[in-house]
Amino acid sequence: MSWTLKKKAQARLAQEQGTIRKDWGGKVPVALVYPNTYAVGMSNLGFQTIYWYLNQLPDVVCERVFLPDPEDADELRRTSTPPFSLESLRSLSDFHMVAFSITYEGDYINALRLLALAGIPLRTADRGPHDPLVLMGGVCAFSNPEPLAPFMDFIVVGEGEELVGELIQAYREGYRERQSFLDRLVTIPGIYVPDRYGVSYQPDGTVAAVLPREGASAIVTKRRLSDVNRFETISLVKTPHAEYGHMALLEVGKGCGRGCRFCLEGQVYRPVRHRSVASLTETVAKIAKDADGKRIGLVGACVSDYPWIGDLLKVVEDQGLELSISSLRADSLTPDLVAALARGGHRTLTVAPEAGTERLRRAIRKVITDEQLYAACALIRRHGIPNLKCYFMIGQPTETLEDVEAIPDLAQRMLERLRVLDPVGKPFGRLTLSISSFVPKPWTPFQWAPFDTVESLQNKLEIIKRGARPFSNVRVLHENPREAALQALLARGDRRVGDFLELATRLEGDWRRALREWDADAAFYTTRERSIDERLPWDHFDVGVKKSGLIREWERAGAEAAPRPVG
Ligand code: SF4
Repeated sequence: MSWTLKKKAQARLAQEQGTIRKDWGGKVPVALVYPNTYAVGMSNLGFQTIYWYLNQLPDVVCERVFLPDPEDADELRRTSTPPFSLESLRSLSDFHMVAFSITYEGDYINALRLLALAGIPLRTADRGPHDPLVLMGGVCAFSNPEPLAPFMDFIVVGEGEELVGELIQAYREGYRERQSFLDRLVTIPGIYVPDRYGVSYQPDGTVAAVLPREGASAIVTKRRLSDVNRFETISLVKTPHAEYGHMALLEVGKGCGRGCRFCLEGQVYRPVRHRSVASLTETVAKIAKDADGKRIGLVGACVSDYPWIGDLLKVVEDQGLELSISSLRADSLTPDLVAALARGGHRTLTVAPEAGTERLRRAIRKVITDEQLYAACALIRRHGIPNLKCYFMIGQPTETLEDVEAIPDLAQRMLERLRVLDPVGKPFGRLTLSISSFVPKPWTPFQWAPFDTVESLQNKLEIIKRGARPFSNVRVLHENPREAALQALLARGDRRVGDFLELATRLEGDWRRALREWDADAAFYTTRERSIDERLPWDHFDVGVKKSGLIREWERAGAEAAPRPVG
């Protein structure tokens, strides 16, 4: 192992608070892997929660593994250092279970690269009795895990808090060899063993059927927590090396009832379940006791919709904590909430109009009016918050060129409301337009929609940048549409997309080259509009979303399309 990398890991640990260290003797060692860097992984609340729950089980030792930082790639190669855990510096292949927490499709290749670097065979079929069991959880596990199906021994479909206990119990009671353990796992609701399902295809390339075998059930049903108050979702490990690492993150509930038609989280975490103020009060008090716990970040699909937000703000302030919230709905901002954020030191407030026109916002069901956005501008200035960030998406269904041109126009109108002095005479800072490309996601009404082409998205970005150029305090940030196209391929891919992932792994993550060399057509998965009669690669899952409801919403979105000019 590289001495330099070992030192770096130890320095990181020394700066953490809340690290859990356990002895390995007689316990099941589980590597909890975030297939991205330490800074990204440690900002993920789900990852932190599972780390804590697994370590609460007396017969488990759970340690964290991350993708090496890019600057360490040469050192890793030079010293042939395999990925290793932060806590005990053991190699990934020393663990009995390698559990990936995956919340972003772009990390699929990273997950396979970590297996390859550890010398663990990529495909389940090639693993032997001494290889670890490889599994995945996280939102990608229940949106559409099919592109990763050839590489995962099993997949945890659902909110993992309860399931991890059942999983470890099954392992403790019955692990003798891989196949008999998988026999046992297929009987646990919410565990998907991909190898127990055969997929056949139509002559046109679409999925014909998914047939279960050897005891697997035809439909894999997502597990969800019935009582969110029984499980605290809180980040307990703090680090200066992660975006939200300096604050305790606290989940106020699961799900969102708004039903924006592009939003995966808004669908798959239903029904909406809010934690009670009483149970959150206990957690907030625990955070406040921590000598360094001065700041708290509230997390949830839509925090400003939390029904008792006023009471919760009071609890947070009574405990002497500062408040932070990552993104808010412009139509549920209240003076109290903005004032609390201002007192908590918020320098930037973030809202997500998603579209430049009210017409397109109606089509995507993000029903926020321009007036509500102007009111949000006035509110942040009244409370002295200097910066505003707005999320927009381009390439959405029914979008026209007018909708794209409307984004800088709207920014200009917002700027007119923002360019006022705050109560202490300070001027406005900056308006950031953060533009992403729409990626159609499974389980949403837009799952049948085509992904826009990269060229078209690049043109739209140019229109927005050109429109914003005259304003010195408007900044346009955007991701690369090619990366969005990769995400679109992986989000709605079937098992055959696994071949592309394997190729990209062999090419050390060079996915652009892998796309060129792959003997399939990525456009089949990305820019093709799907018929509602087509069998989708994730149709053998039940995540609690009814297809009939999605079809109805998809048709309603079409009805909001802009009328075509006559003549
Ligand atoms: S985009 Fe936000 S408000 Fe809309 S459904 Fe998703 S989480 Fe809810």
